Amino acid sequence: MEIGTLKSLNPSKYSDIHLTLSKITLGRNPKCDITLSDIRCSGIHCSITPKQTNDWEFVIEDYSSNGTYLNGVLVGKNQHKIATWNDKLEILKEGKNIDSSLAIAFIFLETVKRKSNDPVAEKIEKIQKVQDNYVEDEITCSICFEIMNKPLILCPCLHSFCESCYLDWKIKSTECPQCRGPVTEVSQNNMIQGIIDIYLQQYPDKKKVIEKCKQCDKKIKDFQCPSNQKHINCKTCKILMPDRKDPLQYCKICHDYYCCLYFSNCPSGLNTLKNYWSQELHPKPGCLKNKFEETVLEDYLAKNKTTGAAICDNLYKEGNFNYSIDTVICEECIENLYQEFIFKFRESIQDKLPEFIKNRNMCVKGRACKLQGSILHSQIYNHF
Ligand SMILES: [Zn+2]
Ligand SMILES: [Zn+2]
Ligand SMILES: [Zn+2]
Ligand SMILES: [Zn+2]
Ligand SMILES: [Zn+2]
Ligand SMILES: [Zn+2]
Repeated sequence: MEIGTLKSLNPSKYSDIHLTLSKITLGRNPKCDITLSDIRCSGIHCSITPKQTNDWEFVIEDYSSNGTYLNGVLVGKNQHKIATWNDKLEILKEGKNIDSSLAIAFIFLETVKRKSNDPVAEKIEKIQKVQDNYVEDEITCSICFEIMNKPLILCPCLHSFCESCYLDWKIKSTECPQCRGPVTEVSQNNMIQGIIDIYLQQYPDKKKVIEKCKQCDKKIKDFQCPSNQKHINCKTCKILMPDRKDPLQYCKICHDYYCCLYFSNCPSGLNTLKNYWSQELHPKPGCLKNKFEETVLEDYLAKNKTTGAAICDNLYKEGNFNYSIDTVICEECIENLYQEFIFKFRESIQDKLPEFIKNRNMCVKGRACKLQGSILHSQIYNHF
């Protein structure tokens, strides 16, 4: 399919070049699609890759020593620029050493479209559209609603699905996902694949995006993703991981997924309780967000020659929590867990606190009270 022409600006020496759906290379190397004989051209001087957006765009990649120019601006070695219709591409730029008879330059010219008031052409376009819609229905997977990827056909009902969609379904059911009929045989659907190949040449951006992670392509740490592997993103960096419900992948408390222990793309996010302990990420002063309560706690700790870290260790060792030393928890949840430890500890020392603390009135709202951060309120009320 011709979508346009590179109109030569030096037609006595260089002819026009047809622009089709495929990439073209230009240069002195005879393997290039367009061979240029001038010694000042590089072996592979540049390439032009058509890209369909709303209209056509062309990615110009420059590999040359002497430069490729788009609208007079150097693209730059191993760089690229995007050209559209009526842009000027210069491969040998007219200048001091190159006169106009030697210059190599082209203009991107769009193939002239039919006149919009041509009723026959309009009808043909409508039919084409109906046909395209019909074809699209035929090659769309009824499980994922995308153009099928590696289509499989089921016998005897002859319904087709993406390979990965069907394999995923097969775990739960032996019936056809579409008609619920029995399935006696499954094979590749080469006919549909052929239609998809042609269709995708015309509509390349409709291709199903297949999620791939590092372990899809090769075995890492004794695991490679099977073709129907479900994937999940790291909450921080969004890298894709196979969703294996591996305890190293997610927080035991909030179930958010992080990559740091599994793929180490992120430096942090999750850790084992053991490591939080050894890193001394213990509750810091200020964790109660109430100066008055903190002073009460700190006075007690000082009087009893102990620390926040030590009380957490003790509470943890007493086994009042449903977590082991190897439990993996995210950094947000460990903060809450520390609050929990501290709260339990404060509860346990109520009787040992000075009289004026013990004698505070009991706040009716208890632990749910929203005023616990207020110094005035906590001087009057107890929340245990
Ligand atoms: Zn599918
Ligand atoms: Zn069926
Ligand atoms: Zn994978
Ligand atoms: Zn990450
Ligand atoms: Zn969490
Ligand atoms: Zn209160």
